[in-house]
Amino acid sequence: MLIDKLVVGALGANCYIIADDKVEESPAIIVDPGGEVDRIIAKIQSHALNVKYIILTHGHGDHIGAVEQLRKMTSAEVLIHHLDEPMLYDPHLNLSDTYSGPEITFHPDKTIGDDSTLSIGNIKITIIHTPGHTKGGICLYIESEKVLITGDTLFYGSIGRTDLPGGNHKDIIQSILVKLMKLPDDVVVYPGHGSSTNIKFERNKNPFLQG
Ligand SMILES: [Zn+2]
Ligand SMILES: [Zn+2]
Repeated sequence: MLIDKLVVGALGANCYIIADDKVEESPAIIVDPGGEVDRIIAKIQSHALNVKYIILTHGHGDHIGAVEQLRKMTSAEVLIHHLDEPMLYDPHLNLSDTYSGPEITFHPDKTIGDDSTLSIGNIKITIIHTPGHTKGGICLYIESEKVLITGDTLFYGSIGRTDLPGGNHKDIIQSILVKLMKLPDDVVVYPGHGSSTNIKFERNKNPFLQG
């Protein structure tokens, strides 16, 4: 499996490109294309990937800014959890009204429910609903590769903000403790901002998860 990270946009969101490069035409997903579509496209072309899905971990502007351009250039389907769908229609909810760039609104192609699965090539991706940063925040778990994409739910030594519309501190702690901390120690965590980490480190050292 190929996993590549691009740090995009003014707020430095991590955009992940994941592909089954052992299968013909390398089917791929793009997670959180927050901006800088030209760099994302260059990466897709350099690996000759066939993008099937654009998956949004949640509806904030720093994670969705390049979706429309990328969808046109790849014809991939845009997916988001149904509880975050309203954020895509409202620049106030997706916070793009507070950024210097254009306000963002668009429609997803499909919404996803709790704990569903998707496949690209031979790679199975489990969607884990982790409300707290937003109501419809999700993590993507690829069990066979020990990879967990966490969006703005869990960071290296930290957790996502809960003071924005739809945020709830109790919910984010519950989501992380109940749904993520049960995963194996050596699962690598790829967050929406900053460096990668792993489950064992976060379980033992993340100050928000102790006590
Ligand atoms: Zn966010
Ligand atoms: Zn973010």
